[in-house]
Amino acid sequence: MQDRIAQVRAEALAAVRAARSPEELEQVRIRYVGKKGELTQLLRGMGQVPPEERPVVGRLVNEARDAVEAELAARQRELAAAALETRLSAETIDVTLPGWAPVLGRRHPLTQVLDEIKRVFTGLGFEVVEGPEIETDWYNFEALNIPQDHPARDLQDTFFITEDILLRTQTSPVQIRVMEAQKPPVRIIAPGKVFRVDADVTHSPMFHQVEGLYVDEGVTFGELKGTLSIMARELFGQRPVRFRPSYFPFTEPSAEMDIQCIICNGAGCRVCKNEGWLEILGSGMVHPQVLRNVGYDPEHVSGFAFGMGVERIAMLKYGIDDIRLFFENDIRFLRQF
Ligand SMILES: [Zn+2]
Repeated sequence: MQDRIAQVRAEALAAVRAARSPEELEQVRIRYVGKKGELTQLLRGMGQVPPEERPVVGRLVNEARDAVEAELAARQRELAAAALETRLSAETIDVTLPGWAPVLGRRHPLTQVLDEIKRVFTGLGFEVVEGPEIETDWYNFEALNIPQDHPARDLQDTFFITEDILLRTQTSPVQIRVMEAQKPPVRIIAPGKVFRVDADVTHSPMFHQVEGLYVDEGVTFGELKGTLSIMARELFGQRPVRFRPSYFPFTEPSAEMDIQCIICNGAGCRVCKNEGWLEILGSGMVHPQVLRNVGYDPEHVSGFAFGMGVERIAMLKYGIDDIRLFFENDIRFLRQF
């Protein structure tokens, strides 16, 4: 019996040391010291041992059991440490490897131009305001002195939602909304999206305008010229500008503003169609009827207004010849700015 105990003890200790994983170790534990394990069975078989030998045999079995359990615990610690070591080496981070460079976005060229325009005008004391993109006929046309039968209302140009509601074709309705809500002096620019039924290389059904308005007592055409000349110089650098008589229903007199061609410096080229000049905006003194429409007295106040296409300014500034490039979001194009 004592030989048998020594043999099982030796086998169990060897099996514990040979175990290569927590699972294997658990199998060994069950096999030797589990409820039906071999050492447990030896204790249960004490009944067949002669009474005088029982204390010795019992002690030996218990010693064997303690030894095996101690060895199991030791081996379990070894395996856990080894497992941790394996995991740590597998998850090692090499801090000397080059990192992922964060992908930096850029401001869209239209946003850059618009920010520049805002900077110039806020520096001149103008406030930036916005208005709705869905407008009523009154704000988009009627209040701006464009009555029902006016040719400027060409149906081909306007996206109508109902007979009276439309997508604004210009940012000018914001002028009306501001003047209705506020007494002079009014000095605002209103940037935003506008919509027209038109699409080709230089026209987009959606594009951006900046509207400007200055109304106060004694505002003159000289102030219009001075203000817009400063803007042109800030956007395009020092170069000649000129004002040409023009016509808009909501201004009188009206003028378009040209800058000397930035490609040929006035010599004449394809971009300026050999004129030497490029049109950049429309402007004029606010029509007395528009002032009356918002409850202002044209005998007491006067003002000037102007409007420009942000895409057009950006195309001229950066030499872009296709308006659609702004809206395709091709990062090869956008990265250049
Ligand atoms: Zn030119």
